[in-house]
Amino acid sequence: MRIVFVGPPGSGKGTQAKFLCDKFGIPQISTGDMLRAAKSEGRLPPEITKAMESGGLVPDSVVIGLIEERTQQPDAAKGFLLDGFPRTVPQADALSAMLSKRGLALDCVVALDVPENLLIERAVLRRTDKRTGQIYHLSYKPPPPDAVIEHRVDDQEDVVRRRISTYQAMTSELLPHYERLGLLRRVNGVGDVADVTQRCLAALGRV
Ligand code: AMP
Repeated sequence: MRIVFVGPPGSGKGTQAKFLCDKFGIPQISTGDMLRAAKSEGRLPPEITKAMESGGLVPDSVVIGLIEERTQQPDAAKGFLLDGFPRTVPQADALSAMLSKRGLALDCVVALDVPENLLIERAVLRRTDKRTGQIYHLSYKPPPPDAVIEHRVDDQEDVVRRRISTYQAMTSELLPHYERLGLLRRVNGVGDVADVTQRCLAALGRV
C-alpha cells in the first residue's frame, strides 16, 4: 500500500492518516516532520532552515533525497503513506521514477475535500486546553469550565486563510497531474471522523 495523502490544513488529514497507517501497518512519512527533526538536531544547512521559516519550499533535491532514503527503511517494506510530499510536479515525477527503479508504483493519491468556509469556521471556533492539549470546538464540543483554553495562533482566521491558499496553490498543479495519471481519489472530508474513514477505505478499495 503506497499512498500519497493530501488535504488542506484543518481537514482532519492527520487523524485519517494515522488510522490508515495503523490499519495497514505502514509508516506515515512526513517531509515536514523529517525536516523539523533535522533542524532541531542542527543537521539542516542555514539556507534550508531559512526557507522553512519563511514558509517557502526547500529545494526538491533535499526532500527527494529524504524520501529516497526513508522509503527504503525496513518498516516501509509493506508500503507507506506520504504526507507533505510530493508538493510539486517535479517531486511527483521524481517519486514515480524512484519507485519504478525499484519495480514499484504508487497505488493512489487520496485527497480530502473540505470546503474552505468550513475549514475556516472549524479553526476560528477551535480552542485548545493549554495543559492537556485537548482540542475543543465552541459549538460542537464546548470545553468544560475548568479547561485552560487558548485560541492558537495557527487557528487565527488570517493565518488559516493564508495556509489554505498555500495549499490551493500547491494542489492546483499536483492534483490535475495525478488525475491525468488516473491515480487521484477525491474523498469527501465533511462529516463524522468514522464516516470519513469509511470513505477513505472505499477510495483505497479496502472495504
Ligand atoms: P509541513 O509540516 O508539511 O507543512 O512542512 C513544513 C515545511 O517544510 C514547509 O513549509 C516547507 O518549507 C518544508 N517542506 C516540507 N515538505 C516539503 C516538500 N515536499 N517540498 C518542499 N518543502 C517542503
